[in-house]
Amino acid sequence: MQLNTNQIKDALMATGKKQKELFAEASCIRKKAVGEDVYFRGIIEYSNVCEKNCYYCGIRRGNEKVNRYRMTFQEIKNCLAFIQKAQYGSVVLQSGELMTEEAKVFLLNLVDFIHTKYPKMGITLSCGELPYPFLEKLKEAGAHRYLLRIETSVPKLYKSLHPKDHSLKKRIECLKNLKRLNYQVGCGNMIGLPGQTIEDMMADLQFFQEMDFDMFGLGPYVIHEDTPLSTPVVQKWWEANKEKIFNQALNFIALLRILIPTCNIAAATALDVFHKTGREEALKVGANILMPSVTPNKYRNDYLLYQNKPCVDGHAHICAGCVIKKVESAGLNPVLGRQGNALHYKQRQNVKT
Ligand code: SAH
Ligand code: SF4
Repeated sequence: MQLNTNQIKDALMATGKKQKELFAEASCIRKKAVGEDVYFRGIIEYSNVCEKNCYYCGIRRGNEKVNRYRMTFQEIKNCLAFIQKAQYGSVVLQSGELMTEEAKVFLLNLVDFIHTKYPKMGITLSCGELPYPFLEKLKEAGAHRYLLRIETSVPKLYKSLHPKDHSLKKRIECLKNLKRLNYQVGCGNMIGLPGQTIEDMMADLQFFQEMDFDMFGLGPYVIHEDTPLSTPVVQKWWEANKEKIFNQALNFIALLRILIPTCNIAAATALDVFHKTGREEALKVGANILMPSVTPNKYRNDYLLYQNKPCVDGHAHICAGCVIKKVESAGLNPVLGRQGNALHYKQRQNVKT
């Protein structure tokens, strides 16, 4: 569906009756385009070692309070067995960005192991800006989906959130490489970043449409006290604007569903920081993917990208029961044992051939 600039702006700022209408429209478009099924990806946050220093992120290199870990192969194997038993259908391997040879070999072996032992399991990676030849090897080994959020597509804002050696251009190039390699590509942004305007969010929406991504994982910015972005002024501003940020994140999800009806949209866990039912609300307004944590309990408190992360005390089996209930209470259909690839990707393939 095409919307003009004013309609998009109004939708992003919608509250009350206007917001209800937006959500109803998104829900209706979802039903027609992809139905009411919701798919799962068990996420394993297998390492919090990161070479980068993003100003917003709790596990940035500069945060010396973080207890660094790398899960062992055996620990990850146990998580995979759980995913198989819980019938999530897909795994997401997520980590900090680490370019050492050892880290690369580990990841490649891991993907190879998963694809061989669980050939029907969907494999999504979310490990930062990896070089083209390595992404190619990972694809050959069986990885077929990749999540790389742009965070913001606006150069000035991107600069204010990252040190000088982090490059928006490089991130976009990596996203293009993922498309070239025929991955199912997921992107996303953060909503409610300090200094972010409605026009900046509109630019992100335009970027997402132009890049023709298959999947989205976007969420509200959540402050983390041990990061450079968390100044007293920002803390005060963020606390005062929480409700607005939450609502704008939901509006953004609804708009994405309206503008790109056949994409997959994940309901981000960060939404639950704002409201207990945050992820359910996202499902109701257009999201169709949940990513329950499978990370072992002992590591969860060391993978705090943001403050007050939910479920850090939960075990994987508790999350399993919880996510199915969330889908049902949103009035949708939880689907187990299927990969749930994006219809948008399948359609892109058909167009190509
Ligand atoms: N290192 C990889 C993957 C892990 S970080 C990468 O950066 O792509 C995954 C996502 O966590 C990031 O893309 C960012 O959007 C999100 N994130 C980090 N800090 C956050 C914060 N303070 N609030 C909300 N999301 C955050
Ligand atoms: Fe590292 Fe990703 Fe956090 Fe940036 S957002 S510091 S790349 S884990």
